[in-house]
Amino acid sequence: MVAAKNASTRWLVRIIPLILAGCAGLATYVVVKLACLDYFLQRQQKAGVAAAFLALYFFFFLLMLLSYFRVFLEIQHNPGVTPLGERAIQQRKREKERKRRGRKEESDLEAGERYEACADNNPDSPGLERFYSKDVFVCNTDGRPRWCSSCCTWKVDRAHHCSELERCVKKMDHYCPWVGGVVGETSFKYFIQFTGYTALYCIVVIVATVICLKSKLESGLGVDGLVIAALAISAFFGLFTFTMTATSIRYAIVNLTNVDYLKSKNIVHQLAIRVPRGTQGTPKYSVITYPLPKRSGSGHQGASPRDQLATRTFAIVKTEMGENPWDLGPYKNWQSIMGNSPLDWLLPIKPSPCAVFENNDSFYEMGPLYQHLRERFGLPEVTSSEKEEIRGFKQQQHENGTNRT
Ligand SMILES: [Zn+2]
Repeated sequence: MVAAKNASTRWLVRIIPLILAGCAGLATYVVVKLACLDYFLQRQQKAGVAAAFLALYFFFFLLMLLSYFRVFLEIQHNPGVTPLGERAIQQRKREKERKRRGRKEESDLEAGERYEACADNNPDSPGLERFYSKDVFVCNTDGRPRWCSSCCTWKVDRAHHCSELERCVKKMDHYCPWVGGVVGETSFKYFIQFTGYTALYCIVVIVATVICLKSKLESGLGVDGLVIAALAISAFFGLFTFTMTATSIRYAIVNLTNVDYLKSKNIVHQLAIRVPRGTQGTPKYSVITYPLPKRSGSGHQGASPRDQLATRTFAIVKTEMGENPWDLGPYKNWQSIMGNSPLDWLLPIKPSPCAVFENNDSFYEMGPLYQHLRERFGLPEVTSSEKEEIRGFKQQQHENGTNRT
């Protein structure tokens, strides 16, 4: 379980479920007792109306509860964070220890070390192989993957560092105290379902309370304060969750997260795309060869013949502004998050396909832009014999495992 670093946020996460439970309790009392049983059934003798509202109310209440538990538990127990690097683990251990001892001054003195945690320059840096054993990954200008200086680890494609958790979260969407933490790749589907069902639930409460109030007013009966309170609360949450649902559905359809969306207009993605071994750079693109050379400046020519056999060359290319390499088209984008069948879209049971997707080619399924980029930059295709080679890096890595800086 990954908890928020701020104590106030941790408390908020504990208190909000109680507030929500209180609101749902009030709504249940008003809709079931005051509106359906007391008013529609007893006073107006409209059993059909009472039954219809009860059925709708409990139908959406149940779905809302189920999706709430699903999204809440997923966020607590499987938030989709990437593992910390060894340096970050040691640093955080030390920080914890210092805090425990209450030696604040010392922690201030050493705080600087967290920020000088620059990218690991070791060619055999742990986790690096996971990137270059793929055919495409997001990289920096130098062709190495992005580095998170706080987690001291290579950032997988589409991961974003969440300052609230102090961790990198895969496909981070936003931090949401209402559902107890960071909405990301593992929880986005359930989040959409939760906000969607809550909006529908609120609509049922609004309609039931408005009809009840209107009839009461017309027949000269007094207005009940509880009914007004339930109406106000459901209108507030209804509007809030409806907006969230509409926004989230839009993000799902264009395959962007909230974080992506905020910068989507002026972001350029830099990708390392695999090309045949030994491909030379051109004015259009530069190349990088993995595993990285042991001595800087020598290039891959300096590697031994055995190393050369296992090398992989990547072209470093940039997308145009605003292009999304993971855009699969609206329907497939939707399916990658919500699941392949309408039943998956409605029930908070199966995880998102994109959360369990990772193959030898890429971290996430690539959209048509990937092929367009190959054509746009004239990247040669990797021959099938090179593709089928057994990845022989592990042995080499093992031998050099103690070389870390
Ligand atoms: Zn991070």
